[in-house]
Amino acid sequence: MTLELVKSKSAARLQGLLPVVRTATERLIERSFSLGIPIVIVQGLRTIAEQNELYAQGRTKSGPKVTNAKGGTSYHNFGVAVDFALLLPDGRSVSWDTKRDGNTDHKADWMQVVAIAKELGFEWGGDWKTFTDLPHLQMVFGLSTAQYRAGKRPTEAQIQAVLKKIGEAEESLEKAKVIVNGKSIEDGVLINGKTYVPLRAVGEALGAIVDWDNKTNTATVKK
Ligand SMILES: [Zn+2]
Repeated sequence: MTLELVKSKSAARLQGLLPVVRTATERLIERSFSLGIPIVIVQGLRTIAEQNELYAQGRTKSGPKVTNAKGGTSYHNFGVAVDFALLLPDGRSVSWDTKRDGNTDHKADWMQVVAIAKELGFEWGGDWKTFTDLPHLQMVFGLSTAQYRAGKRPTEAQIQAVLKKIGEAEESLEKAKVIVNGKSIEDGVLINGKTYVPLRAVGEALGAIVDWDNKTNTATVKK
């Protein structure tokens, strides 16, 4: 599964989100993927009319109750909340199993995604005391749904603060200097105690020929 494929699964659900929330969600997908955890955004913006339709279900309409929020009382209605699920290796099915360990690192994938989301500035519905909502992530900038309904929006300073935080989160990737035969080449990165180095730069510094096949995602090094 490529990152492009994983991102394409969520593309439609990212539309209509507040741009900064959308950017943070894209980082979440990318950073989860880099840990070997593909995720999919299953809910993004929900219009007030859509929310009212959902609220009617199990009340004035048939079907089970699916929400306690009337239109305008969910952060989803203002493009500042998303719901995620794990994307299974078939690239189609999703999993809500919060204990699943698909990347076999002995940590629950779900909680690894939540940890990244919090670093990016999201609040997690799993932390709520009265009603926990495990797939739910929101970035509300201290505004209530009533304030959003009244047309209030985050300030430019609040948005910039989150963008800075996202930038910082990326910079916190530890860089690794790479020296080949006494000569410094392009930096690598340290992820979970492993050093990743730019293969072409290292190979060529050693006098090898490095080839990349786009079709099969395969690098070949020949000397
Ligand atoms: Zn939600």
